[in-house]
Amino acid sequence: MADYKPPLDDIEFVLRNIADLEALSKLDGFAHADPDTVHNALEEAGRFMSEVVAPTNRIGDEVGSVHDGDRDVTTPPGFKEAYTKFIESGWGAVSYPQDVGGAGLPYLIGMAIQELTTTANMAFSICPMLTMGAVESILFHGSEEQQATYLPKLTTGEWTGTMVLTEPGAGSDVGALRTKAEPREDGTWAITGTKIFITWGEHDLAENIIHMVLARTPESPPGTKGISLFLVPKFLVGPDGEPGDRNALHAVSIEHKLGIHASPTCVMSFEDATGYLIGEEHHGMRYMFTMMNSARVAVGVEGLAVSEAAYQKALAYAKERLQGRAIGQKAGESSLIIEHPDVRRMLMTMRAYIEAMRGLLYLNAEAFDLAHHHPDEATKQANQELLELLTPISKAWCTDLGVELTSLGLQVFGGMGYVEETGIAQLYRDARIAPIYEGTNGIQAMDLVGRKLPMRGGGATRDLIARMGALDADLAEAGENLASIRTGFAEGVSVLTEAVTWLAEHGPAQPNDALAGATPFLRLMGTVLGGFVMAQASLAATELLEKGEGDPEFLKAKIATARFYIDQLLPEAKSLLPMVTAGVDQLFEVPVGQL
Ligand SMILES: Cc1cc2nc3c(=O)[nH]c(=O)nc-3n(C[C@H](O)[C@H](O)[C@H](O)COP(=O)(O)OP(=O)(O)OC[C@H]3O[C@@H](n4cnc5c(N)ncnc54)[C@H](O)[C@@H]3O)c2cc1C
Repeated sequence: MADYKPPLDDIEFVLRNIADLEALSKLDGFAHADPDTVHNALEEAGRFMSEVVAPTNRIGDEVGSVHDGDRDVTTPPGFKEAYTKFIESGWGAVSYPQDVGGAGLPYLIGMAIQELTTTANMAFSICPMLTMGAVESILFHGSEEQQATYLPKLTTGEWTGTMVLTEPGAGSDVGALRTKAEPREDGTWAITGTKIFITWGEHDLAENIIHMVLARTPESPPGTKGISLFLVPKFLVGPDGEPGDRNALHAVSIEHKLGIHASPTCVMSFEDATGYLIGEEHHGMRYMFTMMNSARVAVGVEGLAVSEAAYQKALAYAKERLQGRAIGQKAGESSLIIEHPDVRRMLMTMRAYIEAMRGLLYLNAEAFDLAHHHPDEATKQANQELLELLTPISKAWCTDLGVELTSLGLQVFGGMGYVEETGIAQLYRDARIAPIYEGTNGIQAMDLVGRKLPMRGGGATRDLIARMGALDADLAEAGENLASIRTGFAEGVSVLTEAVTWLAEHGPAQPNDALAGATPFLRLMGTVLGGFVMAQASLAATELLEKGEGDPEFLKAKIATARFYIDQLLPEAKSLLPMVTAGVDQLFEVPVGQL
């Protein structure tokens, strides 16, 4: 996608008006994240992604990564050069702490850069995204020695990381995994087993690959309680800190799959491979959640990024394709398809959901930063809860929309969307994995309803709903121009409250009824949260217009997009209520034999 235009104005609008970058930059350690410095960094990152990373996207899809039938994987032409430049520029390390080689910027800025990278090339972006997960688990749970040995090269991206959970019999049910870890006398562990679907498990971009592997130690309790986390390098690291002997593991093959062809999805075999225990035995699932939670939000960003890429392509096509005669067009003349109301509806739907997703994801990133860096304990705790509450919604709502919006973008192209040369079909195929990996969206919905809503007796959810409700006074003050936004958003909040109340009343006694409605509930809550950030956007744009600051056309478009979202997309929330509250009976009324 060489013609990718980084949406820097839209990103900065969110950083300044929905998340509060200015306030974050006042926290200890973030002084260098002031909005002006961030503006320059994003401009530079945007240029880099569009000029260096985006040109690898098509060829990555066409050629894909290739396994040699033995143990090595070759990435598509141009990937190695682009990755080398990526790590030289330091784009993978922006939000790591400075004392381990990062730039020490807020995760919020790391997310903006991840968005830019992923929109340029999703398959490429997954490699640094997984490295980030490995860095976090070593940083939070590894020993000092492990940190000193692995972090310096992982944070720069010279070495890459993986997440190694899945086995043929252990997908969503990670607790069923059977890979073994046997203790050795020298304190290391012998790891033996087969793992499947391991993203970037083998490749030629980096000089070492650090696998974070879940395995079971002897006589460990069954299920997730008996799982431990091991660091298993492709090359064992010598006392000089350099990769030495090859470890006893290799990629047996890679999958042929629907999309993200450049991202190698490996079957990995560990044959008495040397591993190092992270933290304590049997705490592996907890440690892995450190990786998975940030990876879940990062996968949500994939939904946003592929949608943005599809929107840019669809918009460009709609501005050049002549077809049919729009109402009012002179007889005998064709119109650009962008003049047809139905095409406008598709473009506006894409645009409005993209803005809503960006607002939600950046709010989620801000909660991460406040939970980790705010000096006040109560604020930290409140943001930790918000982070946990928003994470499954960011993952699942944004990735479901990624599939829907890339499909809509393809529709704008008509028949040309279905042929590969326009590139929109690739985005649709790439988008399809995101609702599946990092915990399927069904598992995210169960997490939201079963674990997150009940946090602190429902207190975290009530606080969020109260925060949404507090916007009503500001919307009232903004006057007639935002009147329909005010009423539509208030209706959305009341629908969300009704759904939450029903789940709180029925969930504990009839968990199957709550689980039956979990996916529609997640969609409902995502849709209302989208309304929340769009209402905030309309208020911020109104205020800036009143002050005479910023580009008035850009700001008016923000208000119009927010109004479209709240008038036309948010009402979906109400239509989901019957699915949330229907209970389980109808789902099982037709016997299996009749299905
Ligand atoms: C391209 C690709 C890359 C991947 N990368 C990695 C990676 O890097 N590392 C890694 O470890 N794994 C990776 N995975 C694995 C991925 O995380 C799993 O595919 C995913 O967790 C689902 O597991 P599964 O495929 O076994 O599906 P299953 O668990 O068999 O699920 C099948 C269906 O049943 C539903 N389901 C399952 N259990 C329940 C339940 N209890 N309640 C309700 N519904 C349920 C699911 O939602 C799904 O719809 C990758 C997969 C792919 C395809």
